[in-house]
Amino acid sequence: MPSKYADLGTPTTCPRCGDTVRRHTDPDGVQIDLDIRDAPTRLAPEGLRWRVTGNGTAINLGWADPTDTVRVAHEDVCTARPQPDVAELLAYWRRGAARAATQAALEALQPDVSDLRRTPSRREVRTVACPQCGAVAGQPCGAPNGAARYVNHQQRVTAFHADRYRSIPGPQVGGQRRLQPPREQVRTVACPRCSAPANAPCNGARGKERTSHHFERVAAFTASC
Ligand SMILES: [Zn+2]
Ligand SMILES: [Zn+2]
Ligand SMILES: [Zn+2]
Repeated sequence: MPSKYADLGTPTTCPRCGDTVRRHTDPDGVQIDLDIRDAPTRLAPEGLRWRVTGNGTAINLGWADPTDTVRVAHEDVCTARPQPDVAELLAYWRRGAARAATQAALEALQPDVSDLRRTPSRREVRTVACPQCGAVAGQPCGAPNGAARYVNHQQRVTAFHADRYRSIPGPQVGGQRRLQPPREQVRTVACPRCSAPANAPCNGARGKERTSHHFERVAAFTASC
């Protein structure tokens, strides 16, 4: 059973590897960052087992073995500081149900992206270059006769969304980020890059179907919500 109070800690970022961790205090008031993943007790070395109580305090369990899963201090499993005695635990997290649980935990930690969904102003869109007419950042789009266009090209709007989307600091764990919306959802919009219609896969080189979507399509999906 997952530790029921483990999400009481404040999400923060490991300065070494960039993983999202949860910050708690121990009974002495000392800060401790716990990894967001549940660890089977048998794979967590004695002394490295932690539990979170109902008020969010993290308690080191020492040698005790009271539950089937425990938390571990992120420091002990940080990918930037490999520790030989947790190799088995790291391997466990990479497979099957543990991997799926990690994905779910990451999804729960997604930042609020509602800001990405609002329509940007013309001026904001002009902060990126236009891939359609070649206007540089800060300059208005150009009409074929050389006159400045009042309205930005659609491709520039898409480029702006793509840029904004790339800039969100997403949660990550074990050095991996999961930020993309689900593939089935992305596919409900047409792809501005390869012109694949809604519900059809993207087209790669020589018209071959791509298994992944073009980045522009992901951005277009986000922008359309
Ligand atoms: Zn780390
Ligand atoms: Zn343009
Ligand atoms: Zn595409």
